[in-house]
Amino acid sequence: MKKKTRTKFVRYLGKQMKEDYTALQIYSRDMAELPNLTKLLFNSTPDGIILPRNVEDIQRVYNLATETKTPIVPRSGGTTGFGGSIPCNKGLVIDCKGLDRELLIEPIDQTVTTSPSIIFSELQKKLKLQGFSLCSYPSSYYSATVGGWISHGGHGIGSVKYGNVVDQIAEMQVVLPNGEVQSFNEKEDIALFFGSNGTLGIITEIKLKIKFDIPLKQFGCIFDSPVELMKGLKELQNVDPFSVWFLNPSQVSAFNDYFGYNLPRSYVAIISKEISYEEEELTFSNNFNNTIRKASGQILDKRYITDIWDFRFKTLALLKEYPDFLVSEVILPIETSAKYLRKLAGLFEGSLRVEGELISKTHYALLLYLPIEEPINDFKKSLLILKINKHVLKSRKIGGFPYSTGLWFAGYYPQIYGEAMYKRYKEFKKKVDPKNISNPGKVCSPKMRFFPLFKLKFVIRIASEFS
Ligand SMILES: Cc1cc2nc3c(=O)[nH]c(=O)nc-3n(C[C@H](O)[C@H](O)[C@H](O)COP(=O)(O)OP(=O)(O)OC[C@H]3O[C@@H](n4cnc5c(N)ncnc54)[C@H](O)[C@@H]3O)c2cc1C
Repeated sequence: MKKKTRTKFVRYLGKQMKEDYTALQIYSRDMAELPNLTKLLFNSTPDGIILPRNVEDIQRVYNLATETKTPIVPRSGGTTGFGGSIPCNKGLVIDCKGLDRELLIEPIDQTVTTSPSIIFSELQKKLKLQGFSLCSYPSSYYSATVGGWISHGGHGIGSVKYGNVVDQIAEMQVVLPNGEVQSFNEKEDIALFFGSNGTLGIITEIKLKIKFDIPLKQFGCIFDSPVELMKGLKELQNVDPFSVWFLNPSQVSAFNDYFGYNLPRSYVAIISKEISYEEEELTFSNNFNNTIRKASGQILDKRYITDIWDFRFKTLALLKEYPDFLVSEVILPIETSAKYLRKLAGLFEGSLRVEGELISKTHYALLLYLPIEEPINDFKKSLLILKINKHVLKSRKIGGFPYSTGLWFAGYYPQIYGEAMYKRYKEFKKKVDPKNISNPGKVCSPKMRFFPLFKLKFVIRIASEFS
């Protein structure tokens, strides 16, 4: 960053701008640590971190950034593994976690107005005290924020019943990169921000739809193969579940070893259902048993799954004992993905762990974890990242797509959200951010650091083919 530019920011922000080495290193990575080799492609170390207190601070930062052409990278929990909240070519990271707002629950409308930086577990705790609950939430519940979820393009636990995050936003306020503050309450407009990775501005307030806190009961079943699992996912739609969460055999083994379960080493699915009365549970149980039999699955005795629901947020703990790990996410269609899922199980000598969540009547989201058992060098780690990326991109052949764009999948927005949405996105972006200062390189692929003739998307794709 030029000295003159830095002075302008420091003069305005004072202690709200951090530039110490440790902070810069922390903010140069998200959930997935990048190998040093990637520094040839982009520079993820920011020039500074900004801690805004309010909307006015953000407006001022955007105005200064536009004047000085400084990239601004919004960041909240930093829990995505796609590089969405790290710079692609220096600039300033805005840490939105300090944005505070009093929580307002409106029981008649069944909405809650909140700061975007509230962490899901805190929000849920406050709602439960009043007899309400979130409709759905990500499994990174203990560290992810509502604002980050929208921008990453969130689906989650409860999405099969209540939809993705767009279905749950009643209204939101955004500081656009041109410094204007605007509220959006039409689904069409809100959808523009879904998966926009902070490229269209910073969300500063959200009104979320909520529901009554109906107790959830869990039921378990197993399937011998991906084909049967897919049959099961289709049939389970008939029992109106709140959530269908499943593990592949290698994730089941890890679960058993770490948490002391005794689950059969197969495809295990845990179904959660909103149930208020005992009779309702009995009726559901009968329906569930019939449904699973029809799909050639087997019912898991309740003893096998005692308290298992509490562990849905703790699967990262399974990777604690490894020196390193890699994560990725992909969305797949139920109808055509059984073969793909079986192939995934055989990759990396069977060590790829897979965990899925049904997100709609037709699709499910898959989290991929690769534990790295021995410390490996940078080159090998880069190859592994590229190999996982290759398999995520291969899913397009069967109608799947990466979960979000971020930095790794920048350039794939039309494949994820459709051409019509991309057209609307580009028009809006041009209008509100003509100098492309808000999180550049996270939706449209950036040029490479030392070889600006090539776009990152092209280089990653070619490198993935050879990994
Ligand atoms: C174990 C694990 C489980 C996960 N499970 C799920 C899941 O079930 N469903 C799911 O959707 N995701 C999941 N994720 C991915 C991720 O955790 C979530 O999407 C999460 O909600 C992102 O929130 P965050 O606060 O960490 O955002 P960040 O990682 O900080 O940011 C995500 C994106 O949003 C932008 N951004 C952040 N704050 C703002 C803001 N205020 N305004 C505008 N843009 C902003 C950033 O620039 C970035 O592009 C999971 C991740 C892990 C590691």
